[in-house]
Amino acid sequence: MAERLLVGALKGGKNTKIVTLNGKKITKMPSALEKLSGLKILALQNNLIPKVCPEISALTQFQNLKLKEFYCEENPLLLRQPVHAVIQDEVWSLQEIASRFVMNQLAENNPLLMQAVEHYPQIKDIISRGKECAICGKSFVTTWLECVEFVPPSKNWKISRNLQLIPLQMLICSYKCFNHRGPDLFGIAQV
Ligand SMILES: [Zn+2]
Repeated sequence: MAERLLVGALKGGKNTKIVTLNGKKITKMPSALEKLSGLKILALQNNLIPKVCPEISALTQFQNLKLKEFYCEENPLLLRQPVHAVIQDEVWSLQEIASRFVMNQLAENNPLLMQAVEHYPQIKDIISRGKECAICGKSFVTTWLECVEFVPPSKNWKISRNLQLIPLQMLICSYKCFNHRGPDLFGIAQV
């Protein structure tokens, strides 16, 4: 059934605008979709697809934005399986240590540093790239732990109604903060 629908879509070539293959027990994203350069809407929800194929990533790249809508909920894209994380000793570079100190002092309005930083545009440039830790609120520049928090989508967002939670990227400054995270924050790991 899914094959027939896909063959029909492929026959349409670049004139095919919509492909709907929801609930078809598909286990792999059809890479042939890449050939449908005019594709605007792709609905693959409620299947058994474990990952997004690179061809679809290409279709959604900003420089080649053609796909306007992509539905993929109810697929096992997220591996809900805890893995044991190895805590590595963090050795921050001297620049990271100094940047964190300067940024946190500036946040406290340290008058000496506020005055000194005016004379060093290079330091301004480095600390302008600073990010804020989602746990302690302090700043860091180059070393962090990437996490996601699953939150209910805002009512103003234009997304599928059956999407209950969405992942938001959260950056954390250290393992010390990571160990104080709430139950809804998950570290991202390559498995
Ligand atoms: Zn922190």
